[in-house]
Amino acid sequence: MAIFSHPDFDDHEGVYMASDPASGLKAIIAVHSTYRGPSAGGTRFWSYADDEAALKDALRLSKAMSYKNAMADIPHGGGKGVILRPSGEFDREALFAAYGRAVNQLGGSYYAAEDVGVSPDDMENVKTGTNFVAGLDSGKNASGDPSPITADGVFRCLKVAALESFGSSDLKQLRVAVQGLGHVGYALCQHLSKAGAKLVVADINTGAVKRAEAELGASAHNPDTIHTADVDIFAPCALGGVINEKSVGDIKAGIVGGAANNQLSTSEMGEALRARDILYCPDYVINAGGIINVAAELSGDFNPEWVEGKLDGITQTLIDILADSKSKNLATNLIADEMARSRIGRAV
Ligand code: NAD
Repeated sequence: MAIFSHPDFDDHEGVYMASDPASGLKAIIAVHSTYRGPSAGGTRFWSYADDEAALKDALRLSKAMSYKNAMADIPHGGGKGVILRPSGEFDREALFAAYGRAVNQLGGSYYAAEDVGVSPDDMENVKTGTNFVAGLDSGKNASGDPSPITADGVFRCLKVAALESFGSSDLKQLRVAVQGLGHVGYALCQHLSKAGAKLVVADINTGAVKRAEAELGASAHNPDTIHTADVDIFAPCALGGVINEKSVGDIKAGIVGGAANNQLSTSEMGEALRARDILYCPDYVINAGGIINVAAELSGDFNPEWVEGKLDGITQTLIDILADSKSKNLATNLIADEMARSRIGRAV
């Protein structure tokens, strides 16, 4: 497995392999940058096709965390852990405890929180092996589930985007398609519904769709074609790579902005959206609410006002990106990447 010549290697400060045969742990922890402070980012628990797929995820996600943390202006660098889900039976408690011991060996250059497939309970098990952990449900300073704060940040940024594209930040009567009604997507729908938006929703989990129909008056849409819905805003809140060569031409919304990480399959997709006059809100800028909440926990003195100020900060950052995108005639994702790299001391 190539590391230094890997296409996703971006001068990561460290890439660590951890294994513990007793529990079945196999994990990769990538620390992209500690320029702004100790790295912080979620841990993903996933059935990877092979080691290479896990390495690719760790390299890409840790770099995205550097960008996200820099744009959110929190005192952390970017890192990410991925745990390869064992194929057979395993002891989940023992596995996450072993992962905690692996995180501990990094001596604080990486702080772990939850990501896809990992719950606050798992983090309690990680905590048995290390104090370099956040996103806990209990204990002094515990910040709990970051998802509602992520949804709050996305909602605020969609209002900024609506003002830019449609001349008003009032979302009343705007049609919004939300892809994915999980922890963040559903909370975003609740904000949107309260603001008077008309919701079109899709999820492969039909229970979540039924709930949105019953509680929020949402209309259900086919999950395979939700990106084609005739709406004002498309909010991807499920998977990465939803804006790709195949889908980009079918988007009817004037704005794309949601919580999902890595929404653009390639960086060129940002320009493809811009060419179609679609305003793209860079994902790692607008979905930083959760890591802001985690940073408040890590500071040792959880302060809701500080979190509030940082959420306001991400809306201002989006305003700055939109202005630069206009004046430089460049896609918003490229403007954001440039800003992020300069904030981590890697300006080109
Ligand atoms: P989640 O697992 O709670 O929800 C994801 C939802 O998407 C699920 O309901 C799932 O059924 C649905 N889904 C999966 N495949 C789908 C498909 N093909 N079409 C439609 N729906 C589909 O995850 P989450 O915590 O809500 O996170 C959503 C996204 O936001 C992820 O990409 C995550 O990485 C990103 N994100 C989350 C946070 C956070 O605070 N939780 C922070 C930043 C970014």
